[in-house]
Amino acid sequence: MRDIPVLFNNKDECCGCAACYSICPQRAITMSEDEMGFEYPIIDKTKCVCCSICIKTCPVKINAL
Ligand code: SF4
Ligand code: SF4
Repeated sequence: MRDIPVLFNNKDECCGCAACYSICPQRAITMSEDEMGFEYPIIDKTKCVCCSICIKTCPVKINAL
């Protein structure tokens, strides 16, 4: 059983591009605005099927490889 991906641990690991949100086949990701008005993705664990497409699409994680 694969785990639900961790899109970011700290906000500097996410530029808010919403690529993960756009590509999720389950529509399990929503973009949520923080207190500064920046949007960050949140995964609905009840919808996620742990396919990891979101992580593989994330430009920040690609650059970190
Ligand atoms: S792992 Fe798959 S289903 Fe889960 S949030 Fe990412 S893209 Fe969506
Ligand atoms: S794809 Fe990566 S950088 Fe873009 S919103 Fe999702 S987690 Fe953040």
